[in-house]
Amino acid sequence: MIKGGLSKSLRQDRAVWILDVTGVWLFVGKAITLGGTYYFANIVNQSLSRIPTIKLLPRISSVPVQIVLYLLLADLVGYWLHRTFHKIPALWMLHKFHHSATEMGVFTARRDNPLVVPLFILFTGLPVSIFGAPSEVPLWITFFAILHSLIIHSQIPSDWGFFGRWVLVSPYGHTVHHSKASHHLNKNFCFMFPLWDHVFGSYYGGSDEVVAIGVDEPDSGRSLVRALIDDTGSCIGVSLKAALSWYGLSVSPGPRAAPLDRHDGMNI
Ligand SMILES: [Zn+2]
Ligand SMILES: [Zn+2]
Repeated sequence: MIKGGLSKSLRQDRAVWILDVTGVWLFVGKAITLGGTYYFANIVNQSLSRIPTIKLLPRISSVPVQIVLYLLLADLVGYWLHRTFHKIPALWMLHKFHHSATEMGVFTARRDNPLVVPLFILFTGLPVSIFGAPSEVPLWITFFAILHSLIIHSQIPSDWGFFGRWVLVSPYGHTVHHSKASHHLNKNFCFMFPLWDHVFGSYYGGSDEVVAIGVDEPDSGRSLVRALIDDTGSCIGVSLKAALSWYGLSVSPGPRAAPLDRHDGMNI
């Protein structure tokens, strides 16, 4: 926190939050892809409709059990999607903005490139397509999920002990995910349940202090407009180069941005 006011990072978080809740951020995402997100969504929805479904959840008589299973499945998909955003260069270009925050704050929870949120919504819908949705999802579950997301991005310096280690992701647990320290990299991908990090070997079991968060300069410290233009442009550029290489139309590999290299070493 900067004396006398919010830091630049927290002011950006607040600005993105305002743009997000007013719908402007989503509109920006549609505009800069010339509606491409709509086209992509249609392809994904059509693909999902062809997946064989087993509709397991509606067959379970207990609604609380349905909800717990649903949240576990959604978090499992979210876990692998998050790991993939760190692994694939074009996706890291989009996710990098979330990690460019230099200070945690509740609004950091909504600090995302406008193209990231539709992708997450589309793919976390996958378990619903296959396993069905719970018969009813109480409003407090949605409220709790949003509240939890705000809390883990807050500056509450707590790991919640056993509860944070095994039951629910704590503020410390997610701050480790944002840490710049090399021994914290590629750790704690789960959004809600640490279980999947334990299962897939990415849980950080230490308790040392997180000294600094963010990505390397100049990606931390950019203006909002600059970050939006740079990251979206890089994502599109890297994707096109990868597509051209795929079809044998380019012999030179696409550039790898320096901030991505700090995330190398992860094996999906
Ligand atoms: Zn991340
Ligand atoms: Zn975060």
